[in-house]
Amino acid sequence: MRSETKNTILIIGGGLIGLSIAYEFARNKFKVEVLSKNRSESAGFVAAGMLATHAEGLEDELFIFGQQSQNLIPGWIKNIEQDSGIDCGLKKSGIVVPFENLKKLKKFKTYKYGKYLNQKNLKKEISGINTNWEHGLLFEQDGQIDNRRRLMRALERACSLHGVKFQEGADVKELILEQNKILGAKVLNATGEIKNILGEKVILCCGAWSKKVLKNLPIFPVKGQMLSIQGPENSIKRVLFGPNTYLVPRDDGLIVVGATVEDKAEFNQGNTPKGINQLQEGIKSLLPEALNWPQMEHWWGFRPCTPDFKPIIGKTQIVNLYVATGHYRNGVLFSAITSDIMFKLIQEKTLNNIETTFLKKFSFNRFEV
Ligand SMILES: Cc1cc2nc3c(=O)[nH]c(=O)nc-3n(C[C@H](O)[C@H](O)[C@H](O)COP(=O)(O)OP(=O)(O)OC[C@H]3O[C@@H](n4cnc5c(N)ncnc54)[C@H](O)[C@@H]3O)c2cc1C
Repeated sequence: MRSETKNTILIIGGGLIGLSIAYEFARNKFKVEVLSKNRSESAGFVAAGMLATHAEGLEDELFIFGQQSQNLIPGWIKNIEQDSGIDCGLKKSGIVVPFENLKKLKKFKTYKYGKYLNQKNLKKEISGINTNWEHGLLFEQDGQIDNRRRLMRALERACSLHGVKFQEGADVKELILEQNKILGAKVLNATGEIKNILGEKVILCCGAWSKKVLKNLPIFPVKGQMLSIQGPENSIKRVLFGPNTYLVPRDDGLIVVGATVEDKAEFNQGNTPKGINQLQEGIKSLLPEALNWPQMEHWWGFRPCTPDFKPIIGKTQIVNLYVATGHYRNGVLFSAITSDIMFKLIQEKTLNNIETTFLKKFSFNRFEV
């Protein structure tokens, strides 16, 4: 067994949240190391990339968290793009939420933030939309980012150019504790060796797998299956967000279709006939002609969920151990604000009232009382 590196911000989990936090520290000249069990299982490579505070109908502190993150995202992405040289595909494309009747539309939590569309205008926004939908709300504030093909890679490259040390295939088996302090992590690496990796401050960002590393974290996986279709030239431009399915058009005509919400699937791998059928039914209910467009790819992943569907961000009872996990369906949206707050918290920078409230509402100890 060998010990390595001291004075490091040690990040466990190289998914979207881990990379976002690593980037924040690295660009502020910290020494950062990222331990990643399996890059390709990260939900960051799965998500549809919607930035959908309003279209998701978020409420209360999640709504404000989403809005504030959406405000940070343009500047955050500009930095990542400059540092990585990779365009992340950020687009304020607007998201259209269709409704069968006005009653449902008026009950929608974020109704007052949307622009009302009657059926004629709904058809103008989404040519070919199923005629079952008679009304719609257009959330022009919402948009998307190409997390799968661009943002994740851009973060990796930007981190790497800022000196972040990566270890792929590094499975953290346990945290090394001395009294109430973490010394680092015991890791089984890709070549089968067990090593102790040390860090001054340790941040746990293991997404849906977080509970495996810290047993009392109330995190469980919610599986989501996805597919993509290749649309013809000039197909939809806005995201179409139905009750069970959404269509997210990228610039190159690829349309990302999601997603199943399977809270009993545990970590069962793979697409299933039931899942793909459900997505196809969803396409038919939203944009029937798109059923004829070729399917390009099927994939799946695991959302990190908590009992109250809100993230867990901040300190733990162990003095130098922090967590940032449980972002469930909105981790892409929340990544900018999470990395910003985590950096300020760990560096003991002044937090404003709203940031302090987020840390209280999303604290780990809300589950321990
Ligand atoms: C189908 C689907 C669609 C989604 N769509 C959207 C969307 O449109 N908009 C949005 O905002 N969000 C969306 N999300 C949510 C978003 O993807 C997640 O909230 C976000 O990726 C969580 O990031 P994370 O870093 O916590 O977890 P992940 O990105 O999953 O990363 C966790 C990483 O930790 C690593 N790890 C685990 N255990 C260990 C260990 N013991 N040692 C070392 N490393 C470990 C894993 O290998 C993994 O790479 C979607 C998610 C899914 C599944």
